[in-house]
Amino acid sequence: MFDRKEYQKEYSRRYRETHKTEIKLHKKAYTEAHKAEKKAYSKAWRETHKEETKAYRQRPEVKQRANKYYLSHPDEVKAKDVVHYAVRKGKLPRASTKTCARVGCGKQAEHYHHPSYEKQHRLDVLPMCRACHRETHELLKRIAS
Ligand SMILES: [Zn+2]
Ligand SMILES: [Zn+2]
Repeated sequence: MFDRKEYQKEYSRRYRETHKTEIKLHKKAYTEAHKAEKKAYSKAWRETHKEETKAYRQRPEVKQRANKYYLSHPDEVKAKDVVHYAVRKGKLPRASTKTCARVGCGKQAEHYHHPSYEKQHRLDVLPMCRACHRETHELLKRIAS
């Protein structure tokens, strides 16, 4: 007997198999095309939820958590603040305008990595993509332990 459901399942499985690169390219193009839209959307969201976000940050347990982190990682928090401030003031380009500093990566950077959190090195940062940044920290942790 002809099983329509099974047939369709098999058909779409085969389609995915034979059109792998096409699907991938299509997805990529879609993400690219909707990047600006998404960005505008999250900006609008932040604009309209300013009060909620502010209230959230003011909540005692959230404040306490941030404070606790600050107390155990003061240099890191300060170094990050200095970089955020410099970016806001236009003294430092956004990480996203740079290419990942890791040799051979070539991806768009998303974060700034601090090789040192010490006061005199707070603006000596390396632009890195998310994956390389995470790896760098994992590597550092492994070295430290
Ligand atoms: Zn880092
Ligand atoms: Zn990278």
